[in-house]
Amino acid sequence: MALNIVPFVSVDNMMKLVLHLGPERVMTELASCIEADFRRWESFDKTPRVASHSPVGVIELMPTSDGEMYGFKYVNGHPKNTRDGLQTVTAFGLLAEVKTGYPILLTEMTILTALRTAAMSALAARHLAPAGATTMALIGNGAQAEFQALAFHAICGVTAVRLYDTDPAATAKCARNLVGSGLKLTSCKSPEEAMEGARIVTTCTADKQLATILTDNMVGPGIHINAVGGDCPGKTELHRDILLRASIFVEYPPQTRIEGEIQQLAPDHPVTELWQVLTGQAKGRADARQITLFDSVGFAIEDFSALRYVHDQLRTLPYSEPLDMIADPDDPRDLYGMLLRAGATAA
Ligand code: NAD
Repeated sequence: MALNIVPFVSVDNMMKLVLHLGPERVMTELASCIEADFRRWESFDKTPRVASHSPVGVIELMPTSDGEMYGFKYVNGHPKNTRDGLQTVTAFGLLAEVKTGYPILLTEMTILTALRTAAMSALAARHLAPAGATTMALIGNGAQAEFQALAFHAICGVTAVRLYDTDPAATAKCARNLVGSGLKLTSCKSPEEAMEGARIVTTCTADKQLATILTDNMVGPGIHINAVGGDCPGKTELHRDILLRASIFVEYPPQTRIEGEIQQLAPDHPVTELWQVLTGQAKGRADARQITLFDSVGFAIEDFSALRYVHDQLRTLPYSEPLDMIADPDDPRDLYGMLLRAGATAA
C-alpha cells in the first residue's frame, strides 16, 4: 500500500477479525504481546495519559513510542452515557512509524480496548492469583464483563464465574452472552453472594464517585482482586481499608496514583510495578494468604501492543480498507499547487 494510504479497521472489520480468530485466541495473543512489551518497558516513552475532565466524564489521549513505532488512543469514560443508549467507553487509535512520522494504521478501539483490558487483567492474574483459583466473582456486568470472563477462562483456567450487577438486566445479558463458553455461570443477588467461594474478584463497575463495591469484611485472605472500574480521579471501587491490607500491583505508578484505587492512599504508599514482576525483578504472589490487588487503570503501552497486534494481523487478513488520509503532492513542497490543480480539475 502506498505510504499516503492508511489501512483503516472499522468496527465492522474489527468484529470480522475477532470472529475469524476467535475472541479467546485474540485475548491470549494480546496478553503475549502485552507481556513482550512490558518486558522491554524501559525502551518506551512513558507519560500519564492526558485527561480532560468534565462533571459527567473524561476524554483522554494515551501516547507512547518504542522508538520505531508511535501509537496513541483516544478514549472516553462517561458512566451516565448508557442511560441515553450510548456506551460508557469508546475509543479509536493510530499507529505510526517513527522514521517518517506517517501513520500505518487507524483503527476502532472500543472493541479492542475491551479485549486488551481483559487480556491485561488475566495476564496480571496469572502472576498474582492464588494457585488453583478456578472461581471468579464478576461485579459489574456491563460492556467489559464478558471479555473479562473469557480472558480469565482462556488465560488463567477460571471455570466458574459468579455474576452480580446492581441492574439485573445487565447480569441477565452477560449470562446469556456467555452461554456455550464452557464457564459455569451463577447469577447472584448481592456482591456478598457473588464472592462466595471465589478466590478471584473482578470489579468492573462504572460510577463517577468514590464507590465501595467491595468493603473490607468481604475480602478474606488469599484473594486476588482485579479492580478495573476505578480509573479516574474521584472514581474508585474499593474501600480504603482493603488497600491497606493488600499487596498492590500497578501498571505505571505516576498515572495510577492519579487515577487508580491508590489515589486514596499516601503518595509514597508502596506499590509494585507489573513489568518488574514480568521480568522477574519483583515478586508476584508471595504466599497463599496474601491479598493481591491489580489496580488496573489501562496504560498506553497496552494499547500500543494491541495496535501492533492488529497491524500484524493485517499482513495476512483482509479486514481493513484503504483510507486517503495523508496529502501526497507530486512535489512534496507543492501542497498548495496540488489544491489548485484539484480545483482546476473540478471546475
Ligand atoms: P458499563 O457502563 O457498560 O458497565 C458498568 C456496569 O456496572 C453497569 O452494568 C452498571 O449497572 C454496573 N454498576 C454500576 N454501579 C454498580 C455497583 N455499585 N455494583 C454493581 N454493579 C454496578 O461500563 P464498561 O464499559 O463495562 O466499563 C466498566 C468500567 O471499567 C468503567 O468504569 C470503565 O471506565 C472501566 N474501564 C477500565 C479499563 C481499564 O483499563 N482499567 C478499561 C475499560 C473500561
